[in-house]
Amino acid sequence: MSDGNLKKETSFYQNVESYVEKAAKYLKLPKGLIGQIKECNSVYKMHFPIKIKGEYQVIEAYRIQHSHHRVPTKGGIRFSLGVNQDEVMALASLMTYKCAIVDVPFGGAKGGIKIDPKSYSQNQLERITRRYTAELIKKNFIGPAIDVPAPDYGTNAKVMGWILDTYLSYNPDQIDAYGCVTGKPVGLNGIRGRTEATGLGVFYGIREMMKKKSEMAKLGLSTGIKGKTFVVQGLGNVGYYAAKFMIDEGAVLVGVCEYEGSIYNAEGINLTALMKHRKETGSIMGMPGSTDLEDRTKAMEMPCDILIPAALENQITAENAGRIQAKIIGEAANGPTTPDADEILIDKGVLIIPDMYLNAGGVTVSYFEWLKNLSHVRFGRMDKRFTQSSYMGIVESVEKMTNKKLSLKEKKVLTHGADEIDLVYSGLEETMIESLEAIMNTWKRNKQVKDMRTAAYVVALSKVADAYISMGIFP
Ligand code: GLU
Repeated sequence: MSDGNLKKETSFYQNVESYVEKAAKYLKLPKGLIGQIKECNSVYKMHFPIKIKGEYQVIEAYRIQHSHHRVPTKGGIRFSLGVNQDEVMALASLMTYKCAIVDVPFGGAKGGIKIDPKSYSQNQLERITRRYTAELIKKNFIGPAIDVPAPDYGTNAKVMGWILDTYLSYNPDQIDAYGCVTGKPVGLNGIRGRTEATGLGVFYGIREMMKKKSEMAKLGLSTGIKGKTFVVQGLGNVGYYAAKFMIDEGAVLVGVCEYEGSIYNAEGINLTALMKHRKETGSIMGMPGSTDLEDRTKAMEMPCDILIPAALENQITAENAGRIQAKIIGEAANGPTTPDADEILIDKGVLIIPDMYLNAGGVTVSYFEWLKNLSHVRFGRMDKRFTQSSYMGIVESVEKMTNKKLSLKEKKVLTHGADEIDLVYSGLEETMIESLEAIMNTWKRNKQVKDMRTAAYVVALSKVADAYISMGIFP
């Protein structure tokens, strides 16, 4: 989103490598193993022609599998003009560590097509996606047991539907073919809750962190989300849902950054009204009650308790880190903070909840979708009614014993059997809580570790290393 990265000296992939190296110092790993873990195992760069209005355009695209320590590999596909090999390598690496953190048994991967999706019609995007998928099939770079794409920046459920349909056409006899891609529409064997999963995971992660009295005391904050102010950068799928769930819990949205500019209102911005305003006017600017700021990242520097970067990488840099006033940065995007900025913020005492943990909700629910596809049954189908009638039996016995009657509404609440959406939300909540505890325990055990990101990398690297060691590759 921003071109404010004036002091960018290292590439995104080098940034991820430097985070890995920093954390590796706290682990006693066999010689050479970190070198293997850091590298991308398979890099597929492709070019293919697409005829648009009688002219051929050569499209540049990638699929990069960072780590085969577990298969399939997993990660989104983005449509953006910013796509390049370095970016996709960095994002694929982050996927490996992200999956390890949340115990999703996949290696990391990422794909990208270097296009601006806004410049193409739906039909043209469909042709590009189908051709890209065919290229992946030709090289055995996609499949439920090989590599499973998902949505990312600039892509959505519809695009995943095209990928699925193309894959099915080439593999009509493959019983598990639906597991070749996740984030599909629910009508195409997708899963309920996947659309909002990343934003919901961001919310669960921030909420759990903010329950910790000692951590909040260090920041001079009381516990809990309620009444805390926050700024969000990027109102795409992730930013929108993260903001929505934060507001539902009582947080106050005070600032928003988007392509067209940024706005601030210390009294609070109504998210629904803002979305409506943007739909009607094409911009967040001119939102009644809010102040238009001078540039599109300015709101990130305004007073707030929590800053949620939910756009692209390299947004918080050495150039602007010093001006950030938030006490907590919740990284909803992948790689929003450069290592230089990270150091500045850690020294300032800012708590950064790192991307590889905080935005792992998407891939977690993708994992649930993949499981659903392989098991060929919707979650909740087998046990919902059974649970309901068992609970009803208990409630009726209690009614008899106590001679008290419950209202129908009370009975409904007490005897509710879990639907797919209930199980997805609860599975995601459990994952975010457990993973946070693992990171915090590692952080506590390693007193020299100054920041949560390094602690998260220590957890992730030790899990990936364990897999290699168990394979007997690195004794
Ligand atoms: N693109 C998302 C991410 O960066 C989701 C990946 C997935 O579901 O495989 O985490």
